[in-house]
Amino acid sequence: MKYNLKIQENEDMKKHTTFKIGGNAKFFIIPKNVQQILESIKFAKSKNLPYFILGNGSNLLVDDKGYNGVIISLKELNKISLEKQGQNAFVCVEAGVNLFRLNQFLANNSISGFEWSYGIPASFGGSVKMNAGAFEKCVGDFLCEITVLKNGKIKKIKKINFSYRNSFLTDEIILSGKLKLKEGEKDEIKAKMSSFLTKRRQTQPYDLPSAGSVFKRNNFLPAKIIDDFGLKGLTLGEAQISKKHAGFIVNLGNATSKDVLKLIHIIKILAKEEGYEFNEEIIHLK
Ligand SMILES: Cc1cc2nc3c(=O)[nH]c(=O)nc-3n(C[C@H](O)[C@H](O)[C@H](O)COP(=O)(O)OP(=O)(O)OC[C@H]3O[C@@H](n4cnc5c(N)ncnc54)[C@H](O)[C@@H]3O)c2cc1C
Repeated sequence: MKYNLKIQENEDMKKHTTFKIGGNAKFFIIPKNVQQILESIKFAKSKNLPYFILGNGSNLLVDDKGYNGVIISLKELNKISLEKQGQNAFVCVEAGVNLFRLNQFLANNSISGFEWSYGIPASFGGSVKMNAGAFEKCVGDFLCEITVLKNGKIKKIKKINFSYRNSFLTDEIILSGKLKLKEGEKDEIKAKMSSFLTKRRQTQPYDLPSAGSVFKRNNFLPAKIIDDFGLKGLTLGEAQISKKHAGFIVNLGNATSKDVLKLIHIIKILAKEEGYEFNEEIIHLK
């Protein structure tokens, strides 16, 4: 069968993740629309391979052996539209829009409420899937509807059971979402964005590649416990438990997934001995 798609073979996944770790994906496709997403899935099925939906790759640890499947990157679904109703603003965002661009769009249109997310290096779709959050807020608090592709059909979902870093969405492909926000003052919005970004830069290792917090919060703070263990700065190969924020593992240059997984293993063993169960927030793609 002939596919109307640009299919790349043996694509280096280091280029597509913020961790800059991992081997090649067997196939890599950037569909331009829903039709091409469906075709990409068909292509994967025809090769008897799994597929994986890629956002901005900011929560991923791709294995050194790579991914023997089809990566479907949604970065070309990148439209934003706005409808104002009185003081309310409804913003429709496609999955591939990154949160930096979304925040700049909101600021330029004087729309307030989403500033807390400025600095999270996510795509909108990935942030919905993971229910990304910061500063006591999360994406789910502002979503009134999402449009997904499920079993080949487009479906709108209004009620989503978000919880901490979880949307409970499974095999749905998020195409877009509608946010309910408010009109605000452009200068105040920009000031808030910049203050959130400054806070992040002061506390998190933004100068080195990472995939954000390695472990999910529980009724305890994993970063605090790792710090108390005295593990900040522990380095294996070129992977290091960040000296700035113990919840992050950073790539000093040529870290491998093996190095990162060993660090995770060490942390989990020590945590278990102290009675804590640590669960990974980052996704190991293999
Ligand atoms: C420096 C740094 C800071 C960070 N700070 C935060 C923070 O403050 N708060 C926070 O919550 N996270 C944070 N993260 C983690 C990360 O940004 C979030 O988990 C984010 O939601 C991941 O989005 P993504 O687009 O990069 O998804 P990816 O990493 O590409 O994918 C993550 C998961 O979402 C799925 N997915 C992606 N797009 C779609 C889609 N359209 N439909 C269906 N499934 C999809 C993927 O298949 C995968 O399972 C940080 C990461 C870094 C590197």
